[in-house]
Parts: sequence; structure tokens; C-alpha cells
Amino acid sequence: MKLVFATHNPGKLQEVRELLAPDYEVIGLTDLGDHEEIEETAQTLEGNAWIKARTVWQKHGLSCFSDDTGLEIEALNGAPGVFSARFAGPEKDPQANMDKVLHELRDQKNRDARFRTAVALVLNGNEYLFEGTVNGVITTSQSGAKGFGYDPIFSPNGFSTTFAEMDAPTKNEISHRGLAIKKLVAFLKEN
Ligand code: IMP
Repeated sequence: MKLVFATHNPGKLQEVRELLAPDYEVIGLTDLGDHEEIEETAQTLEGNAWIKARTVWQKHGLSCFSDDTGLEIEALNGAPGVFSARFAGPEKDPQANMDKVLHELRDQKNRDARFRTAVALVLNGNEYLFEGTVNGVITTSQSGAKGFGYDPIFSPNGFSTTFAEMDAPTKNEISHRGLAIKKLVAFLKEN
């Protein structure tokens, strides 16, 4: 069965494609010849994930899933959350975003944070939601060069390193997105 992953990110696509083969053929928006950027206008991760999955279902009539992720910092009342990509401005600059987090937490003892991913699935018109979270702390400075986004300043609980110091398989095993996608895969294998 053909299933669309509402993303233009080839790295994300490849990861999920391998997990669902051979039962599902996962294709990205670019494979569909759809180059439109779907606007993420909701105030929650779940809302944005639904916008993307429903848009593809309505536009192409194909079953589809999408993901949306946010970094939720306790001392900042859950910010940047749904605004993680644009925390320091519309340029979506990861370095500026990390600088802003470190600055806002400069005098903070409570550095607890979590990454949370919502995955929305529209399967033959029926809707399902999956979630993955990983708890950790915001470090006091950047460490590591792997990964992306906020990885150099996030250290998951039980580890002395940041996500940016881990290899990809180790991170995927425990990460928010890895856990949410695992739930999606388990569901799809049963259905
Ligand atoms: P998206 O929903 O995957 O586009 O993620 C939104 C923003 O959260 C991205 O721009 C990144 O800054 C951040 N982000 C998402 N996933 C991760 C991750 O695994 N590590 C670090 N930052 C992430």
C-alpha cells in the first residue's frame, strides 16, 4: 500500500521508508511532484501535524502521515514548543535558537526539558494520533556536532552526553521522533 509522509526532508523519509518496507511504500511530497510548503499555523504540535496530514489526504486522496516536533522547557513554561523552529526569528536559524535558549536559562537552576513529537495519520479517511517524548536537561553550553536543531544543548536523562554527541542509531532508539514513529509502525503492521 502507498502511504505519503508529508515531508520534503529526504533524511526523515529514508528513515521511515526502511521501517515500513515492504508492506508500505512510503513516498514524500517531492515524489508526488508537490512542491508546495504546507503552512503550519496551529498553536499546538498536534494541530500542525493534523494540518499537514489532512491537507495531503484532501489534495491527493492518498493516505498520509506527518510529524511535528517541539522542545518544551519547564522553566520557560513549555516554550519554545510549537514555535521551536522559529524561536529566535523567521530565519529558523538553529544557532540563534540555541543561543536564545542558553541566554534565557542563564540564571536558571531548573533546566528540565523534553522533546515531544506528534504524528498524525489519515488512513483511508480514518484519523489516528501517536506521540513520543524524551525527557532530559538543557546543558549550560553546546557540545557535539552530530544531529541537528537543538541537539548540541539537549542531554537525555540517563546519558552524560548531548544528542549531538550520539550516533544516529543510538539517538533514534530513544528519541521523541523514534518513539512516535515506532508506535506508528506497530499500528500499521497490525492494520
Ligand atoms: P520539525 O517539526 O521536525 O520541523 O521540528 C521543529 C523544530 O524542532 C526544528 O526546527 C528543530 O529546531 C527542532 N527539532 C526537531 N527535532 C529535533 C531533534 O531531534 N533534535 C534537535 N532539534 C529538533
